[in-house]
Amino acid sequence: AKNCGKNNAKLYSSSLTMQIMSHVKLEVGLRKALQNDELYLLYQPQIDVASSQIVGFEALVRWRHPERGIISPTEFIPLAEETGLIVPIGEWVLRTACKQATGWQHPRRRPVRVAVNLSAKQFKDENLTQIVLSALHDSGLPAELLELELTEGTLMDDARATMVTLEQLRGIGVYLSIDDFGTGYSSMNYLKRFDVRALKIDKSFISGLPADSENAAITRAIIAMAHGLKMAVVAEGVETDAQLQLLEQYGCDMVQGYHLGHPSPPDSVQRMLSSQPEL
Ligand code: C2E
Ligand code: CA
Ligand code: CA
Ligand code: CA
Repeated sequence: AKNCGKNNAKLYSSSLTMQIMSHVKLEVGLRKALQNDELYLLYQPQIDVASSQIVGFEALVRWRHPERGIISPTEFIPLAEETGLIVPIGEWVLRTACKQATGWQHPRRRPVRVAVNLSAKQFKDENLTQIVLSALHDSGLPAELLELELTEGTLMDDARATMVTLEQLRGIGVYLSIDDFGTGYSSMNYLKRFDVRALKIDKSFISGLPADSENAAITRAIIAMAHGLKMAVVAEGVETDAQLQLLEQYGCDMVQGYHLGHPSPPDSVQRMLSSQPEL
């Protein structure tokens, strides 16, 4: 039994060493990813339920790793946050998305927003407001067509830099929304205070619909609350027509998910937009 424990410890520590090594290798690679042009954005459509029209696209970053192939943001964004690399990566995402979205606009079609994810770490950077202003200025994108997706954690963070930045962003007139709503700390108090325009109901609540009656109740309650506060609601992770029907019945404003469109490269975005009706 003694031996066995020793072997286990050894096994464990060697696999831990491997984990640490691959973590370090990934970090070294991530530092170079930006300059080597290995990051790119996909865009997932957000659809207005009432009109079935596209109102925006969420930018979702990918990393084309030279040896490992395509790496998901669920793997490298946490690493980027830990190392602070999220600041330059986030700036690249913001600038790229704004430039791309400027090209989406058409004089006879409804305006199309671009939504960019911001992690709490980016709010601690005192330059964030300047970066947002500069990305808007350089691209020519109107501020109201830039949506910034924050998490509840960001709004709960009472660090001074975060507060100041949120106040400044409101002044600029960007469209603020709360991502993954319902999964973090409750931020009810902050909803009014920061002039949040939309709540995105986390896909964990949507995935069990229509069968799951508890998640259905939560979804209805979030929609009712948001509308009471004059906010719009986006349901994420809509995968079936039955989910879409139910969300429409509940009065959900916008939907996003594989049923409506997968995260797609810029040329597909242009194709999707060219089939939108003219006003
Ligand atoms: P998120 O912001 O909640 O983004 C939605 C995720 O759900 C995306 O995963 C999207 O591809 C996926 N998704 C979309 N429709 C469906 C569906 O119908 N069913 C299911 N099961 N999933 C769906 P993705 O692209 O892997 O991104 C994962 C997370 O990585 C994002 O979650 C976001 O938190 C983070 N992320 C992605 N891009 C960025 C970025 O540029 N900056 C930051 N800070 N975070 C990012
Ligand atoms: Ca998001
Ligand atoms: Ca989300
Ligand atoms: Ca998320």
